[in-house]
Amino acid sequence: MIPACEPYLDGNELKYISDCVNNNWISSKGEYVDKFESGFARYCGCDYGISTTSGTAALHLALATLGIGKGDEVIIPTFTMVSTLLSVLYTGATPILIDCEPDTHNINVDKIEEKISTSTRCIMPVHIYGHPCNMDLIIELSLKYNIPIVEDAAEAHGAKYRGRRAGGLSDIGCFSFYANKVITTGEGGMVVTNNKEYAARARNLKNLAYVDGIKYWHQEVGFNYRMTNLQAALGLAQLEKIDEYIKKRRKNASLYNYYLKDVTGVELPVELPWIKSIYWMYAIKVPCREFLTAELLGKGIETRPFFIPMHKQPFFENGGSYPISDEISRSGLCLPSGTGLKEKDIEYICNCIKEIL
Ligand SMILES: *Cc1c(COP(=O)(O)O)cnc(C)c1O
Repeated sequence: MIPACEPYLDGNELKYISDCVNNNWISSKGEYVDKFESGFARYCGCDYGISTTSGTAALHLALATLGIGKGDEVIIPTFTMVSTLLSVLYTGATPILIDCEPDTHNINVDKIEEKISTSTRCIMPVHIYGHPCNMDLIIELSLKYNIPIVEDAAEAHGAKYRGRRAGGLSDIGCFSFYANKVITTGEGGMVVTNNKEYAARARNLKNLAYVDGIKYWHQEVGFNYRMTNLQAALGLAQLEKIDEYIKKRRKNASLYNYYLKDVTGVELPVELPWIKSIYWMYAIKVPCREFLTAELLGKGIETRPFFIPMHKQPFFENGGSYPISDEISRSGLCLPSGTGLKEKDIEYICNCIKEIL
């Protein structure tokens, strides 16, 4: 079976984890958390990194850091993974959904301004499948209306927008290190920022909002979102390899592009000229997706459908019309995209697609 996405652990993972066990660094105190936080933040071009238990927790922590709550509105794309929406709901704020672009699958920036109201407190773009959003236009709106941006960069570690890395393009960036992401800690996440006050507040809130100087006294509702050193050890080993992994993924994407370029009906992913996508998922659009999915599975090839947009989730139906998201969620298919994928796998997958279609 060729898996849709698999972790790739070929560096110092075991060595660093053994070091944690040998030194009793099994909880959140110890040097691996510090090293992973500062190393990953620096990688994103940021001064501060605050690790968390998951990407979902990182998103929630970012919004809590901004003080977002009941009565506030947060603008998000409807085409995303559920965590983006959940993080807004956790704060009590109201998510305002925006449709996506047909080619990049990212939030349609031309539709953001009409949804900005006096209650808008945050814009949350998501760099879908590793291709950064059109940030210049979002930053323009952010400055015009004085609304902070939180990037959901959970799928875009190391992706570049005009030479700068995703997550470091705005006020706060959020990452996930779940097992299927480009680098992993098993479960985990991180908030990155260049804002010293945000960093201090996020660090405090994620650790139960302890008050300095007075033991067991808490002035606000904090969370336990602490990452352990065991996870950070894994993350640090992965971080040492991230550029190599991204190179492999980009190479694999160009091989897919080559083998699929003449297949009628298949729409290939785009990469805009000022972007360096990391192809977290190699995402295509096809006719008769369910049939293709089943046939590929029969040939030992695992795939993933595109996300079901947020306006279609049974716990959050909002009645709006989002035709592009509806369309791509019907026809979109993610082909195997793991770092360990070989050229012969890609050739086989593409030949199967040609034959089935
Ligand atoms: C994976 C992902 C998350 C959440 O990550 P977890 O670590 O699983 O909580 C959030 N947003 C997007 C867009 C993701 O793909």
